[in-house]
Amino acid sequence: MNYRHSFHAGNFADVMKHITLVRILEYLKRKDKPFRVIDTHAGTGLYDLSGAQSEKTGEWRAGIARLEATALDAEVMALLAPYLDAVSAARETGATLYPGSPWITRNLLRTIDRLTAIELHPQDYQLLKHLFAGDIQVRVIHLDGWLSLGAHVPPKEKRGLILVDPPFELPNEFDRMVDGAVKAWRRWPGGIQALWYPIKDRDAVAAYRAALSETGITKILDLSLMIRAAGDVPSLDGCGMTIINPPYVLKEEMDKILPCLATAMGSARGASWSADWLAGP
Ligand code: SAM
Repeated sequence: MNYRHSFHAGNFADVMKHITLVRILEYLKRKDKPFRVIDTHAGTGLYDLSGAQSEKTGEWRAGIARLEATALDAEVMALLAPYLDAVSAARETGATLYPGSPWITRNLLRTIDRLTAIELHPQDYQLLKHLFAGDIQVRVIHLDGWLSLGAHVPPKEKRGLILVDPPFELPNEFDRMVDGAVKAWRRWPGGIQALWYPIKDRDAVAAYRAALSETGITKILDLSLMIRAAGDVPSLDGCGMTIINPPYVLKEEMDKILPCLATAMGSARGASWSADWLAGP
């Protein structure tokens, strides 16, 4: 396990992922009933953007820093407000901190809602456990996140979201994503799933989307954000979020948000976005 998220925290991919996460949570909060979020690859929860690892890549400067420096229209600003408020709330605990997915989720939970945060890296798990020590709404588990798609699904609340955000260190990560999504969907057909993936190898992404569309899962929305056109050397040109059972408002919201993210964080030439149904509605 070589991947450390602290090199990448707050980059364009985190921003896109965390905004999508927040829009789903805001939808879940519309009903009085409790929900649970299962974060299968949770990370450490908070990242110091002034730390050596963040400084080394400086990725957050082209991500959250650029978004915060961009003037957004009022409608998009209202949609992004819960995310930007969570980013500000994290900074209140430390001026150079950026929140990860479990911290953002926790920040948005009501007292009736719960978070299960899973992390396999021993050090990252310890940091996450320490972060949420004594918090009865959060359960931090040291486990292979892929196993939790069997062990923790469906949650007893029967409402909620599974966030799957693996490091994509291994060559078979796209296959695991499809298999994991099918496994979780069979166990919990009504649950929302949000699956993050990198857009680096276009053939692998096309094969992943085709495989998902052939699984029999009936509602799949695929979102993408490209910050530049593909070059000769493979690099992280964009990222995607595949949403199984998306809230009915999500596509309309992301149709408004994604072009603003492309403008804010993309290069002048070649930035683009998409929001397409791979299955349904
Ligand atoms: N979701 C986090 C966020 O948005 O703030 C970032 C997660 S980072 C992309 C991926 C994390 O998965 C890393 O912290 C890594 O240690 C962890 N990880 C890697 N393999 C794992 C596995 N099989 N099960 C659970 N966690 C794993």
